[in-house]
Amino acid sequence: MTDWKSYVSHLECGATGERLEADRLHNLSPAGKPILVRYDLDALARDLDRDRLATRAPDLWRYRELLPVRDPANAVSLGETATPVLRLDAVVSGGPLFIKDEGRLPTGSFKARGLCLAVCMAKALGVERMAMPSNGNAGAALAAYATRAGIESVVLCPADTPEINLQEIALQGATVYKVDGLIDDCGKIVGRYKERMGWFDTSTLKEPYRIEGKKTMGLELAEQFQWRLPDVILYPTGGGTGLIGMWKAFAELKRIGWLEGDMPRMVAVQATGCAPIVRAFEAGADHAERWQDASTVAAGIRVPAALGDFLILDAVRKSGGFAIAVEDDAILAARKEVARTEGLLLCPEGAATYAAYKTAREAGRIAADESAVLFNCATGLKYPMPDGSIDLVPDADGSFDATFGPD
Ligand SMILES: *Cc1c(COP(=O)(O)O)cnc(C)c1O
Repeated sequence: MTDWKSYVSHLECGATGERLEADRLHNLSPAGKPILVRYDLDALARDLDRDRLATRAPDLWRYRELLPVRDPANAVSLGETATPVLRLDAVVSGGPLFIKDEGRLPTGSFKARGLCLAVCMAKALGVERMAMPSNGNAGAALAAYATRAGIESVVLCPADTPEINLQEIALQGATVYKVDGLIDDCGKIVGRYKERMGWFDTSTLKEPYRIEGKKTMGLELAEQFQWRLPDVILYPTGGGTGLIGMWKAFAELKRIGWLEGDMPRMVAVQATGCAPIVRAFEAGADHAERWQDASTVAAGIRVPAALGDFLILDAVRKSGGFAIAVEDDAILAARKEVARTEGLLLCPEGAATYAAYKTAREAGRIAADESAVLFNCATGLKYPMPDGSIDLVPDADGSFDATFGPD
């Protein structure tokens, strides 16, 4: 591709701002915190007009100037299509409500965005073996992209991870292990063995590039809303990569002058069975304590402790947003409701954002005239279906006609 250029300039510690060199391998910063990627935004603003994007393919690579991949030969791709923003009409009164359906991405979840970039950069920097803890979707995305790039991958999952996710990861070429514990227990094993096994630690926020991949949700959203963002964004928050990434996207777009209007309010949605960010938000704390005995049907947000807690809390507070937890029952009811009324089969995490929207509207935390965007992070087809009470067709002895025939 001829007009391929990344404006990446350097990296920075997300906590101390310490400057770090781009184009070499990093995990955490010297302070033990997540690393953020920085760009020469002034040059970018001079060189690139936002209208030029319209001439490019509708995928993640249309934002390549704001991504870290310098050489298109390292752009490992499985077709990272732009995902649709759908209006939800039938449900709840109030301002315009939209949902961005990320279930259309490769491997069926938005984890594809982050792992695509993590793998591209691992390839560019000569990594041969990547390892991560995963509740399912991240592992599937790592497996698929690593295999595509010719990199070995190892994924450690909690033992109760659904069989479909474990098999999907294995089938796409990773070595999968089950661990008797939660995702942070899996992460500890990666940490303990990485040197001996030659693993590059690809755990959430322990390498700089997954945030950049998730950032494209924010870039895409801005472009889809004609550079004027909706008032509120509700995001199901586990490790928080997406929320941090979108907030970073909006800041970068603002800096280069592409964004009009106000920044959106960022709302972190969690489940009441695992809500460390909500608890920290309400306590006014900068960091979140580990949540004991985490449990929820929304496995993607069953993250008891997030390394980027301070970045999530900072984005939520600076944006004037909030953090909110919803019950599993409300999540399952929301999943049914949206499927029945809108024809949209959400994943439980996506349904959580809908449940949170309803609760927040009722409590007046989102005003009737505010526009809002929900995130469906994965295809609903990857998850167990609710019981739809399906009747057995009566035997074909004539009673079928009697049951279903015209009146
Ligand atoms: C990973 C995941 C989340 C949480 O995303 P983060 O950006 O890590 O907070 C939510 N839903 C699903 C389906 C996921 O796979």
